[in-house]
Amino acid sequence: MTNARNTKQKQIILSILKEADRPMSINEIYVQVIISLPKIAKSTIYRNIDILLEQNLIDKYHLNDNEIFYRIKENRNEHKHFVICDGCKKVFDLPTCPIHDLENAMEEEGFIIKDHQIQISGICKTCAQKQ
Ligand SMILES: [Zn+2]
Ligand SMILES: [Zn+2]
Repeated sequence: MTNARNTKQKQIILSILKEADRPMSINEIYVQVIISLPKIAKSTIYRNIDILLEQNLIDKYHLNDNEIFYRIKENRNEHKHFVICDGCKKVFDLPTCPIHDLENAMEEEGFIIKDHQIQISGICKTCAQKQ
């Protein structure tokens, strides 16, 4: 039973992230999950998210002053970075990842890279015009 229940929890989390199609914080995910699973604990959601990360089905981002966000991966090789506007909290895609050349240079030195994050903070065009 435990396995079946875990699978259901993971599917619910995945479908929430899929529907949102943007990075979500744990609180945003929690608010959505309890609609389907009112009794679920936040720690259980964290545990399921860890499994989904291990399975490479979702990505983890540090945005917004190091708050952690999660986003579904459309495919396992997908690699994206995001910026959140400090004003309206809208999420913007970074056009490219500039880290790969750096990673290659580090790896030539024998450094094994596991992950990287890009953190950019600021406000979007619309918010800038309002100021
Ligand atoms: Zn904005
Ligand atoms: Zn990158």
